Amino acid sequence: MNLTPDASSIELARRLDVRARVCTVVSSTPISTSLHEVVLSGDVELAGVPGNDLMIRVKDDTGKFVRRRYSVRGVDADQITLWVVSAHNGPGAVWARTASPGDLIDVVGPRGKIPLDTHADWHVFVGDVSGLGSFYRLAQSIEVPGRAIFIVELDHDDDALTADFDEGLGVTGIFVDRDGRSPSDPAGLLSGLAAFAFPPDQGHAYLFGEFKVTKVLREALLDRGLEDERISRKAFWRAGRVNAENGEPEKTED
Ligand SMILES: Cc1cc2nc3c(=O)[nH]c(=O)nc-3n(C[C@H](O)[C@H](O)[C@H](O)COP(=O)(O)OP(=O)(O)OC[C@H]3O[C@@H](n4cnc5c(N)ncnc54)[C@H](O)[C@@H]3O)c2cc1C
Repeated sequence: MNLTPDASSIELARRLDVRARVCTVVSSTPISTSLHEVVLSGDVELAGVPGNDLMIRVKDDTGKFVRRRYSVRGVDADQITLWVVSAHNGPGAVWARTASPGDLIDVVGPRGKIPLDTHADWHVFVGDVSGLGSFYRLAQSIEVPGRAIFIVELDHDDDALTADFDEGLGVTGIFVDRDGRSPSDPAGLLSGLAAFAFPPDQGHAYLFGEFKVTKVLREALLDRGLEDERISRKAFWRAGRVNAENGEPEKTED
């Protein structure tokens, strides 16, 4: 069995000053209409801190290797869990749907620059189901007493997956039905956000999801007076466009 990552993964990890490893798929299980839970075994240091993600190397439908990024949902002994949106067609989604126990996968990590803001009293997590795994891992790292508010847009009722949190953490979940709107239409999450009154103490917003939606949400939060440094936005994907070979969505403004 070849447990040496591809040379390109080793070189990428060297440049990023992170690790390149080969992990083994333990399981891949549909957990809702839109999500697969993929469990990998291997070097758990790849998982980094809450908010971090892994970069996996998968083949696209032409046979070319591309990288895709998935946030770590959880870490346990020698296993790393990911929640992967699998309801569309793309190399990452197809990988999640077809991964079998024993498959080997090149992983580079930990990646990501958005950890929990430990100075915040409340944390609002806003986005679509691609952000859910990261939102829950971040919220599970909040020290009590604290407050976590989730505002998440769903295509299907069964995507409203829940998680366990420390007793003493105030948790509010607002699940917004997409109701046929385009995935780049921010209207649903804007109305969810409008229903949330900011507590008086210090807060931090985490915006993970579609490129245009997260951009408009950031502007809405700035308009409501949340300071720029209290808003962490990461576009995970872009409607109608494939992510680039390095796993990032296109950042052009058209
Ligand atoms: C830092 C980071 C962390 C991420 N963490 C996660 C995570 O934890 N879970 C997760 O599921 N995704 C996560 N993503 C997003 C994921 O990497 C992208 O969605 C990726 O594009 C999916 O790759 P793909 O090969 O399936 O589709 P692509 O080849 O990129 O795209 C194919 C088509 O599918 C559409 N598409 C892509 N993603 C979605 C989606 N979520 N919903 C509907 N349509 C889509 C595209 O618009 C395109 O039309 C993360 C991205 C980044 C940058």
